[in-house]
Amino acid sequence: MNSTEQTLSIIKPDAVVRNLENQIKEIFKNKGFKIIKEKKIQIEKSEAEKFYKVHETKPFYNDLCEYLSSGPIVVMVLEKENAILANRELMGATNPKEASEGTIRKLYGISIDKNSVHGSDSIENAKIEIEFFFKD
Ligand code: UDP
Ligand code: MG
Repeated sequence: MNSTEQTLSIIKPDAVVRNLENQIKEIFKNKGFKIIKEKKIQIEKSEAEKFYKVHETKPFYNDLCEYLSSGPIVVMVLEKENAILANRELMGATNPKEASEGTIRKLYGISIDKNSVHGSDSIENAKIEIEFFFKD
């Protein structure tokens, strides 16, 4: 069951501020992801609240939305066979302390909140998240 998919990837503020944008993009490209669309933007807290609405009841929701809107982010559409799962594997666990060797979060993540990258977690959410940032 292999098929070409697109997924939404975000290089989060902690990574952009440390100038890790190009290194992280190289990792994606070396793993066979094509960067179909990309833009560097800073979003309002209200937009972060919409993006992370699924987490609105969580105790970390407010801090998460403050954080995602705290500085520039790089938003990308990545394409590859089974891109959604492949990206989740390459990112590693949400908590960098639990992430496997070689994953982006193991390499660059600072903490469970400042974990350097976002990636869509399902086909449905990938569609919603790509639409959110790239309406055209
Ligand atoms: N997060 C946090 N504290 C937690 C769990 C998550 O600050 O205890 C943040 C973290 O930045 C994470 C984001 O909320 O990437 C979304 O959480 P999710 O569980 O969806 O993790 P992900 O899909 O990013 O691995
Ligand atoms: Mg998630």
